[in-house]
Amino acid sequence: MTDHRVLSPAQLLAVEQIETYGSHNYHPLPVVVESGSGAWLTDVDGNRYLDFLSAYSAVNFGHSNPELVKVAVDQLAKVAITSRAVYSATYGPFIEALARLCGKDMVLPMNTGVEAVESSLKLARKWGYEVKGVPEDLANIIVMEGNFHGRTISVISFSSDDDATTSYGPFTPGFVKVPYGDLAAIEAAMDANTVAILVEPIQGEAGVITPPPEYLPGIRELADRHRVLMIADEIQSGLGRTGSTFYCEQVGVVPDLYLLGKALGGGVVPVSAVVGNADILGLLKPGQHGSTFGGNPLAAAVGLAVVRLLETGEMQRRSRELGAHLHRRLAGLIGRGVTEVRGIGLWAGVDVDPSLGSARSICERMLARGVIAKDTHGATIRMAPPLVITVEELDQAVDVLAECLAEAASERPLASVTTAV
Ligand SMILES: *Cc1c(COP(=O)(O)O)cnc(C)c1O
Repeated sequence: MTDHRVLSPAQLLAVEQIETYGSHNYHPLPVVVESGSGAWLTDVDGNRYLDFLSAYSAVNFGHSNPELVKVAVDQLAKVAITSRAVYSATYGPFIEALARLCGKDMVLPMNTGVEAVESSLKLARKWGYEVKGVPEDLANIIVMEGNFHGRTISVISFSSDDDATTSYGPFTPGFVKVPYGDLAAIEAAMDANTVAILVEPIQGEAGVITPPPEYLPGIRELADRHRVLMIADEIQSGLGRTGSTFYCEQVGVVPDLYLLGKALGGGVVPVSAVVGNADILGLLKPGQHGSTFGGNPLAAAVGLAVVRLLETGEMQRRSRELGAHLHRRLAGLIGRGVTEVRGIGLWAGVDVDPSLGSARSICERMLARGVIAKDTHGATIRMAPPLVITVEELDQAVDVLAECLAEAASERPLASVTTAV
């Protein structure tokens, strides 16, 4: 499993059971987590780890955040699931607060991120046919190479990742893929039937790829000029991760639709949403779209607490200030096992010098020293600690990364001499 870590009998047993009965659609780090608090996770043997992944930014506000857990527990004791067949008491306050946070009129609640993406594609097509006047079934949506928007058939239909697409066809038509960061390519791809441009403000899965500052404003301008919708998938970049509520804010852009998920559920429950104005979201009439669990009382209670937390600006400020520190420290590793660092706020894509091994192998070394970080696309370590982390904890994790890079460098000549693999 890993050269850098020997698992205890308890962890081995759990891993064996999971690998036997679970579909192998993930390649987890070799650790079996039992509990979490703030920026820390604890395994079944009581070992503690600093979490530098935050469940892909679903846990921005820390594990078992006391305020959010209390809200969830209180709501569980009242009512958790009603379906939308009735109005629920927590739903209204949640969507009003979320709409205000986004500066928009209306919210369409879903559960997972990909459902929010799917919902926005349906909304964009509906808007295209019913408002823009695109002939039926001819709408196209412009998407970006290297995107990650989730795993349903329609959403992987425009993925550029072979693993995500192989053997899953036939695919949903109606999407045009252009290189990320290239405004001219978007304009060239547009025609009279284009209804939307779907973009991640920062491409997280692709390796925390941050576009040039003129890119998102340029998309906004193109969308306005050609009368198409700008859909910003802020599922990973939003809700504090980059040092602001939305990354779009930092480049002065307001999209037509925000897609939110991950941290919207406070690390407690899955909550996602499409947020936009009534000229788009108001097109949905009863029966035209739905979700049994979307906007359920538990999700709404937690989602409201998350919005209240974001309204204080504390998490955004932490991300901004601690993120500047993190990026200063990571920049110091360039040339010392790191070739490039990207990102903003408490979010970094750290490219590992390939001669030191894969990013995965560095992550396994970090795990053995008590830091959980995850690789993406071979050479990149993605760092996204909970925003409640302290500066001391940040330093601790960066020190561990530096030690692991040094360790890998020191083993490099030895490995090439002694191993035949
Ligand atoms: C995680 C993610 C999604 C999908 O969210 P799920 O909850 O896993 O369906 C979509 N878009 C972006 C940018 C993401 O990071």
